[in-house]
Amino acid sequence: MFDFIIIGGGIVGMSTAWQLKKTYPDSSMLLLEKESGPARHQTGHNSGVIHAGVYYTPGILKAKFCLEGNRATKDFCREHDIPFDECGKLLVATNELEMDRMKALWDRSEANGLERHWLSAAELKEREPNITGMGGIFVPSSGIVSYTQVTAAMGREFERLGGEIRYNTEVTGLKEETSQVVVQTSQGEVQGKYLVSCSGLMADRVVRMLGIEPEFKICPFRGEYYLLKPEHNQIVNHLIYPIPDPNMPFLGVHLTRMIDGTVTVGPNAVLAFKREGYNKSDISLKDTLEMFTYPGILKVLMKNLKPGLMEMKNSLNKAGYLELVRKYCPSLKVEDMTPYPAGIRAQAVSKDGRLVDDFLFVNTKRTINVCNAPSPAATSAIPIGGYIVDKVREQVELPAAVA
Ligand SMILES: Cc1cc2nc3c(=O)[nH]c(=O)nc-3n(C[C@H](O)[C@H](O)[C@H](O)COP(=O)(O)OP(=O)(O)OC[C@H]3O[C@@H](n4cnc5c(N)ncnc54)[C@H](O)[C@@H]3O)c2cc1C
Repeated sequence: MFDFIIIGGGIVGMSTAWQLKKTYPDSSMLLLEKESGPARHQTGHNSGVIHAGVYYTPGILKAKFCLEGNRATKDFCREHDIPFDECGKLLVATNELEMDRMKALWDRSEANGLERHWLSAAELKEREPNITGMGGIFVPSSGIVSYTQVTAAMGREFERLGGEIRYNTEVTGLKEETSQVVVQTSQGEVQGKYLVSCSGLMADRVVRMLGIEPEFKICPFRGEYYLLKPEHNQIVNHLIYPIPDPNMPFLGVHLTRMIDGTVTVGPNAVLAFKREGYNKSDISLKDTLEMFTYPGILKVLMKNLKPGLMEMKNSLNKAGYLELVRKYCPSLKVEDMTPYPAGIRAQAVSKDGRLVDDFLFVNTKRTINVCNAPSPAATSAIPIGGYIVDKVREQVELPAAVA
């Protein structure tokens, strides 16, 4: 029997496993991942931005963990020789409405404790000759990294400390008993005294395996990107973001310098018909039926019908997608944009029809389940792991926790 079993080899699972092993060095630990390597889902299909924490409601976990995670991720990269670039981010307002929204973001980012600088249109042009706007906010601490590399390094640390990782091992059933959790997998049964689930797009299904009816459902949203042709790799000096609609903060495609020197455009947010289907044509009958029979998801779709349909239209029409970027980068043309792999966000939706805003955990006596960890959870993975370790300290009866 293992002391701890962790489900999920994304960045949240690996960060948690590594920090648990540091805290309980003498405890036996096993991480189970259904894919053949780390970071095969959200963690390996994202923008690679080390967020600073501009948008989040002050005081919620997202705001706190993003700020801490920004520093912790950079420190981890320095310690493990992982390249990152603190290139900074520019939020660009292109009309009066966005100028007003930008003022609100300016106040919010102050409440979140961020260093930032207000830029006039001329100062914006000086920093970014290819970007046009009425003004902007410059946030110097935003950066870029490969989260696949960060996750792999966390996995190596976990193994170096004595933890075990089993890939190609899918958890198919769970039973929480008085003194253990029995874990059925595609490779046979294992037992753990405690279980932590960090299963991303499958979070609700894992909770259900425990016999708990979750108060939420995971709704998958595709994030589609384009890659700019290499001759545009110098088009921007920073990460360029539009000013979001406060009611839909995750909408708005950005221009992202990637750590490999390329530049991507995206992501949008369209409903996905398969949780782990990365091609536009991927459809799972089970996933689709589950979505369209869940009242909460139906309410969200009805409430956001117009922007949802617009996102779908622009997903099918490259010229429409381009217009979203040309608002602030008018020189780009359709032929500059080449295909790039999409990502799929795991967004928890409550029964009453809300997109769950903050990170969400569901705990039982012997289990901790990460149930909502959308962006900026890659940036925040180290504090999320630290938070879980603190919960474990409160919850478990195991000796030798290192302070
Ligand atoms: C398009 C897009 C762009 C994003 N951009 C950013 C960004 O720039 N910056 C940022 O901070 N965040 C960003 N995010 C968010 C970030 O990527 C995620 O919040 C983060 O990766 C979540 O990590 P995770 O470990 O919870 O999930 P995942 O990476 O999805 O990992 C979950 C793992 O659990 C495994 N699993 C699931 N069920 C089982 C089972 N039954 N048995 C065994 N294994 C199982 C899966 O195979 C998977 O490997 C973005 C996300 C997307 C989709």
